[in-house]
Amino acid sequence: MGRLVPNCEYERAGHESKNEFNKKATINMTGRKILLVVDVQRDFIDGSLAVPGAEAIIPEINGIKNGADLVYFTLDWHPKDHCSFKANGGQWPEHCVHYTLGASLADGLLDGLEEAKTRFILKGQNKEREEYGALAAVTASNQSLFLAGDEVTVCGIASEFCVLETLKNVFRLSQEVGFNVNVFLKGTVGFDSTPLLEWMAGNGVKEY
Ligand SMILES: [Zn+2]
Repeated sequence: MGRLVPNCEYERAGHESKNEFNKKATINMTGRKILLVVDVQRDFIDGSLAVPGAEAIIPEINGIKNGADLVYFTLDWHPKDHCSFKANGGQWPEHCVHYTLGASLADGLLDGLEEAKTRFILKGQNKEREEYGALAAVTASNQSLFLAGDEVTVCGIASEFCVLETLKNVFRLSQEVGFNVNVFLKGTVGFDSTPLLEWMAGNGVKEY
């Protein structure tokens, strides 16, 4: 069963100095490989907002995760009265309500991963605001996740919404901090992948 409550390492990290955080994060400080897994949560796999074929990306992600120095998981993490839900005037069925089974990470993703290598990044917590991108702001806290020279690989669900918007966020951070970004397409799924592929082509972002 997936973990219902993410650890809050990332939240705490926001209050530490960048050096302290990075020292703890990994021994390898240069050219770190970071895998950023966007919203691979039960509701998007076989729950209330399932994306067809989403299950197939789990073994793909499992296949490369141990080659990463760090694995960051974003989680859509909504209050029950979130504005994106149909009942509240939004366009989506209720999904990823915080602390529910539907919001938990897909089974198996954490298997074999050292806890010290993983971070959780929560998004969509403000009930007034839709938040597809997990790292929308260039904040000290967001910048502290990445170092110059890192190689960041983005994957997850859904390609044309949260993956694309998070990729745009990370791309912007990459220009601020100085690291490389690519996309693991085999570990990414959506209703329509065209917008993601077009954006990658237009911005010179390569496939992992
Ligand atoms: Zn959502």
